Amino acid sequence: MKIILANPRGFCAGVYMAIDVVDQLLEICPDEPIFVYHEIVHNRHVVQRFQRRGVRFVESLDEVPEGSIVVFSAHGVSPAVRQVAQSKRLLSVDATCPLVTKVHAEAIRYARKGFQILLVGHRHHQEVVGTLGEAPEVIQVVESPADIPSLKVIDPEKLIYLTQTTLSLDDAGVIIDALKRAFPQIKEPPASDICYATTNRQTAVRAIAPQCDLVLVVGSSNSSNSVRLTEIAMNMGTPARLIDDRSELRREWFAGVQTLLVTAGASAPEDLVHDLIEELVRSYGAEVEQHDVRHEEVEFGLPGSLKSLMRERGVDPEGRRIIRGDEGNRLREWFSAHNIPFRIVDLTVQGAAAAP
Ligand code: SF4
Repeated sequence: MKIILANPRGFCAGVYMAIDVVDQLLEICPDEPIFVYHEIVHNRHVVQRFQRRGVRFVESLDEVPEGSIVVFSAHGVSPAVRQVAQSKRLLSVDATCPLVTKVHAEAIRYARKGFQILLVGHRHHQEVVGTLGEAPEVIQVVESPADIPSLKVIDPEKLIYLTQTTLSLDDAGVIIDALKRAFPQIKEPPASDICYATTNRQTAVRAIAPQCDLVLVVGSSNSSNSVRLTEIAMNMGTPARLIDDRSELRREWFAGVQTLLVTAGASAPEDLVHDLIEELVRSYGAEVEQHDVRHEEVEFGLPGSLKSLMRERGVDPEGRRIIRGDEGNRLREWFSAHNIPFRIVDLTVQGAAAAP
């Protein structure tokens, strides 16, 4: 069997930053309880690993004692949640991805200009709940074209759509086309709200899945972008499975599979992909190729709220950012240490390195 590893896959800049925030807090505040409002990122392993280190994940700030440290997850929160945190004198550290914050800022800006906002996304996803909370009186959520007839639009000339950052480009395109047909004057966001990481991981699956007999996506079932990767592969006619880790593999999936694509959602740790590959090579004697479809060099600095807390605790934030280093080399070293034949195939178009 041949295994193709999609690149990019796995952690995005926002997830690296959010995980780094909790890591840093565990280090600089070893004797204080650290609370995280919602899962820091949507991955079971990431959450369980932090729980084992004493981090407490809560679904309501009622569970957080006054004056404690609380981290807002990568998906962002509404102003109402920030207010509750303030009234309880919590030390809030904001790990919201800057690309989610960008959508919040657009919502605030257009609401102030008197626009109504159609927010394309999944109504109950934490990111959508947070963005909606910025201007609930003028935002309506659109999950599918079926929602369009019931929208209440006052002035079609003062209407804009925004989107959740982790949607499928294809699904969002269908909804946006339907919105444009229903409201031809609707404004577009200044730049696509679907983030670079979502776009690149989907582009890689779209490029590689058609040559494969099966796609395995490493990620959790509540991870929007992981679920979208699975759907995209299936929409292209290739069977796909979303798995949290190698323990979920089933032998019957591999009958007749000659070429397998492995990818991972933006919140899935790379060591789970390595474990999976090791298991597949052991079971099926596979050879491995990584297909580079886009190069990513995006990195976000530590949030200001964490830097302030560090300074209060006498810690200089300068130079504390965890630098990822050369992933390609690390991968080669890992394969060579495990005696697994491996090569990288560069399919990138010159100058196509992604930026947010
Ligand atoms: S998937 Fe996109 S929006 Fe979400 S954390 Fe990653 S970079 Fe940010």
